[in-house]
Amino acid sequence: MNAIHGIRAYERYAGKETVRRIEAKARPLQDMHILHMNSTYYGGGVSQLLASLTLLMNSLGIQTGWRVVHGPPDFFSVTKKFHNALQGAKINLTGRKKEIYEQVVHENAIRNHLNHDVIFVHDPQPLPLITHYRKKSPWVWRCHIDLTAPNPEVWNYLAPFIERYDAVVLSCREYRQNLATPQVFFTPAIDPFSIVNRELSESAVDERLAHYNIPSDLPLVVQVSRFDRWKDPEGVIRAFEKARKKEECTLVLVGNVATDDPEGAEVYRSLLSHRGERVIILSVQDGALVNALQRRAAVVLQKSIREGFGMTVSEAMWKGAAVIGGNVGGIRYQIQDGVNGFLVSSVDEAAERIVQLLRDPDLGQRLGRAAHETVRERFLFTRTIEQYLDLISSFEP
Ligand code: UDP
Repeated sequence: MNAIHGIRAYERYAGKETVRRIEAKARPLQDMHILHMNSTYYGGGVSQLLASLTLLMNSLGIQTGWRVVHGPPDFFSVTKKFHNALQGAKINLTGRKKEIYEQVVHENAIRNHLNHDVIFVHDPQPLPLITHYRKKSPWVWRCHIDLTAPNPEVWNYLAPFIERYDAVVLSCREYRQNLATPQVFFTPAIDPFSIVNRELSESAVDERLAHYNIPSDLPLVVQVSRFDRWKDPEGVIRAFEKARKKEECTLVLVGNVATDDPEGAEVYRSLLSHRGERVIILSVQDGALVNALQRRAAVVLQKSIREGFGMTVSEAMWKGAAVIGGNVGGIRYQIQDGVNGFLVSSVDEAAERIVQLLRDPDLGQRLGRAAHETVRERFLFTRTIEQYLDLISSFEP
């Protein structure tokens, strides 16, 4: 199990000054009672973020809880369609979909007695909860989705729920929407002490790779993501197939399926025909394997088509990996093309960059060093903790 770290442990990465500032900001908020509500305890960046955030907030003396909306498969099928539509996909927005969504959220509201000092609702699944309470304290909608081009029909349906909130937090400025509610912008961040990110010895990396029979005789090209079309696993395989005609390598595609994502199993199955001696596709829930792969990879891909933020990018960058990311959404905030990684817009570009990095390991190391610095300066957990504290403090008592 992972040890539970208090804020002082973060001095090692973020410095004394930052930690003292966070402690000072937390002091006036002692004994406040805060709630985070989302739709899954595991799988996906939001659950990773909440796992660390809720523990650390409690260690700062702020009573912070985490609840999950429960629902039957058809509820999550509808909410995944909303998620896809918010990222720009088409949807047939029927009355039945709205009814399932609103009914299940209503049932959750009856079972959850919320009278916290601030309530954070993450993503669209629990969004309409707010309509079922006599509102006595601030409610914040924290949306982690890439809102570059939301489907207008779904957006217009959800907007009246969103506008009941006191604030909306979006990951990137480009996601700003036409809303009456104030919008705040900050990205998630990564926890250097989580299982995915903590330091790992070379022998522990070897052990994890051996456990899954991952060969290390050739350089590894890796993508870690939920099995989701937006992560473009097909594009990753095509880029790899092109690249390996020029340079020998092994592809490892590792993913998990979040409990709130009913499309994951199907996406995973659709990829299996590509499996082979040098194409390893694993559906597992193993943070230590993710950690090991990001450390050992010659190239890490995150070839997303849409990406709210993409914690896997910062996770790999933190480990000094050479990362090739899709030139979209939150990935653009993390990777500066040619400085701390590469941004690509097509399979061909991705293939070219893979070959370039396999041929020039020094380049990969240079980019990786810059990448680690970027994360230390901008995407460590202390930064996001401070932004949550600032937001909570901004509400009148
Ligand atoms: N992750 C994991 N195992 C997997 C795939 C992903 O532990 O097989 C973790 C990954 O390390 C990251 C999170 O799940 O912390 C995914 O977050 P990201 O923001 O990249 O994407 P999301 O799934 O939220 O769209």
